[in-house]
Amino acid sequence: MIQLPFTQTELPAQKHIALVAHDHCKQHLLDWAKRHRAQLAEHSLVATGTTGKLLRETLELEVIAMLSGPLGGDQQLGAWIAERKIDMLVFFWDPFEPQPHDPDIKALLRVAAVWNIPVACNEASADFLISSPLLSQAHPHRIPDYAHYLGKR
Ligand code: PGA
Repeated sequence: MIQLPFTQTELPAQKHIALVAHDHCKQHLLDWAKRHRAQLAEHSLVATGTTGKLLRETLELEVIAMLSGPLGGDQQLGAWIAERKIDMLVFFWDPFEPQPHDPDIKALLRVAAVWNIPVACNEASADFLISSPLLSQAHPHRIPDYAHYLGKR
């Protein structure tokens, strides 16, 4: 079992926010994003392919779109989390529908837990994150101490 040492860093005031919604949850995410457009506009946004395209059209904001989720988009977001290019994840995954890319979804949620970023998987928790005073201020953030980890191997 890995004993993970941690180190202290900071999440920036202007966040990099990743957004993903499964097909039956897309409208739900778009409605949520529309309600919070003003807050989202203060940050930089990235999404899986289809979600990103829809958000761009709906919000008329710049949204970086990765590949579509089933084609590897979730894994791309996971890689960005591990590289600390994403500070927060809003992921409306569908609790009623199995997905062809279930392993990728699990991997994305796992890596978000590893790198200790805030994650919202439904509207109620997304409302909490978007209304947090921490959203628009820099604040301390605990992450795995990778240099220490490497030194031990
Ligand atoms: P999509 O991918 O935004 O390309 O639909 C989302 C997902 O299914 O992970």
